[in-house]
Amino acid sequence: MRATPARSLLAPLLVLGSLVASAGPADAGSREPTTEIVDSTGQDGLTGALTFDDGPDPANTPRLLDLLLAQGHTAVFCLWGEHARRYPDLVRRIVADGHVLCNHSMNHQDLGTWTPDQIRADLLNTNAAIRAAVPQADIRYFCAPYGSWGQTPAVAAELGMQPLGWRLAVGDWEPPGTDELVRRLLEGITPGAVVLLHDGGGDRGQTVDAVARVVPELRAAGWRFTLPARPGSRHVES
Ligand SMILES: [Zn+2]
Repeated sequence: MRATPARSLLAPLLVLGSLVASAGPADAGSREPTTEIVDSTGQDGLTGALTFDDGPDPANTPRLLDLLLAQGHTAVFCLWGEHARRYPDLVRRIVADGHVLCNHSMNHQDLGTWTPDQIRADLLNTNAAIRAAVPQADIRYFCAPYGSWGQTPAVAAELGMQPLGWRLAVGDWEPPGTDELVRRLLEGITPGAVVLLHDGGGDRGQTVDAVARVVPELRAAGWRFTLPARPGSRHVES
């Protein structure tokens, strides 16, 4: 999978990739994935990256997409293959709106003790489910369910996906109330943080409401929302 194809084969793939993924400045840098678990924007200053896990979800993903469109920034969506299969229209809309895709396994089992062959089969199934909705979809990241990485980083990199982690999680999988989520986000965010949120796996209405409030407040304080760092782009950090 990682052997370098002939240039004549590679060029059209790169063109396609850049068309699908023209999402922002974080696209600069090499596209070759590594086993490193990326958890930051790789940029100095007040930047953050939002990831939304466990969707797509018919109740909250459309609301969230409307909100992100209105706020004018892109995010990463870490999809269950099972949900992608059930809601292909939502996968198409996520891509059409310019967001970035992440493989979050077929149905969110703990992969921490799985063998590379078992992991590979699940991740390939998940990608197939996503690509049944969006053929040629650029699935740039893999995020391990429960952060239980085990041997998944090497398999993800081999399949062309960068492991994606986070620096801030706010427990929105046990919704504590929108006010509390807002407080946890405002107090917890640090420069460069990838922030883990959820648009699926249960009722995540509070998460969408919290993003609606937090992003404008942080922007007014000088923050900018971007994508996680691409491998290679981190080397420019000092
Ligand atoms: Zn998850």
